[in-house]
Amino acid sequence: MATGTLKGLTAILVRPGKPLELEMLPTPEVEPGGILIKNTAAAICGSDLHYWRDDGHYQGPDLRRVPGHEFTGVVHSLGKGVTFDSLRQPLKEGDRVAFPFFNPCNRCYWCIRGEHHACPYRQRRNNQFTVEQYPYCDGGYADYYFLPPGHYVFKVPDVLPDDAIPPVNCALCQVLYGIEQAEPRFGDTIVIQGAGGLGIYAAAVAREKGASKVISIDGQTPRLELALKCGATDVIDMKQYKTPADRIARVKELTNGIGADVVVEVVGIAAATIEGLDMVRINGKYVDIGNIIPTTITLPATKVISQQIKWHGVTHYDPWIIPVALDMLVRTQDKYPLSKVVSHSFALKDINKAFEFAEWQGKNTGTAATRVILKP
Ligand SMILES: [Zn+2]
Ligand SMILES: [Zn+2]
Repeated sequence: MATGTLKGLTAILVRPGKPLELEMLPTPEVEPGGILIKNTAAAICGSDLHYWRDDGHYQGPDLRRVPGHEFTGVVHSLGKGVTFDSLRQPLKEGDRVAFPFFNPCNRCYWCIRGEHHACPYRQRRNNQFTVEQYPYCDGGYADYYFLPPGHYVFKVPDVLPDDAIPPVNCALCQVLYGIEQAEPRFGDTIVIQGAGGLGIYAAAVAREKGASKVISIDGQTPRLELALKCGATDVIDMKQYKTPADRIARVKELTNGIGADVVVEVVGIAAATIEGLDMVRINGKYVDIGNIIPTTITLPATKVISQQIKWHGVTHYDPWIIPVALDMLVRTQDKYPLSKVVSHSFALKDINKAFEFAEWQGKNTGTAATRVILKP
């Protein structure tokens, strides 16, 4: 595929533990049906930090790929034949858009059943392509991103501020879809393990779903304060409730000794899953979202069966989640300060500084930072 004359700044992850490298790379020629996006902001998600830090897991060859999956942009150029978005709203150059960071193939066993989140062929470039291959300058931490023909894309409502958009396609959509899977009933009690970016959104979604109690758990007081403003009714501060047993007892106390109807894990630490399963009521639901690193956990074989827990593992979401997530942001704009989830902003060229800052603030207890964004 021929490339255009346009070039864009691109951050390249050579391998975990090494600083990201910056290069100017060409953008692809916009083929009919495709859309070239000019990125405007990309967030540093917990999973990006997992892949960036050298935890000794990665032993393979150099990756040379463009990281960044939680991002947004405007239409730079529309390929021939593209006149509207995935909801048939007119689309033109310059429009702000949101899109999933994966691309269901629409031609497989799962896709024809409408299970787009589970399409085995949905991964975009990250694992299969390197920057030496078409479409080159292509990723969240780059000036441009290419949506191939048929890729889902949604126009962003004008009333939303720019800072509300970058975490939509990962953090917000992921927890919205996860909580949908648990099918909470009106008046349910919902526990959210973690009050980072995903946890804050999860609190708001749980509240909007009609939960009578939304209990957020975290070790950073400023995050819990934000959770309370964004839908949590109760918080469990890990500095006060130091052990899993303390926190499980507190959840039981807040739920009349019953346990929560739904528990949502957005911590990304395997031990949280073992703890969270004990917070679920008999015949309740556990939604596991954060555990994306293959850490081994051991638990008694009876743990899930005897409590009759419905355990939902969730990665990715179906396309309809994006417009309903955007709509929720519009409806709750004056209710929850969700645009505060984005707490710090860096220029794309300072990406290594931004990653170090995000890593540091994740461990530091004195800051409310939930999401750092990079602006190309
Ligand atoms: Zn993410
Ligand atoms: Zn498919």
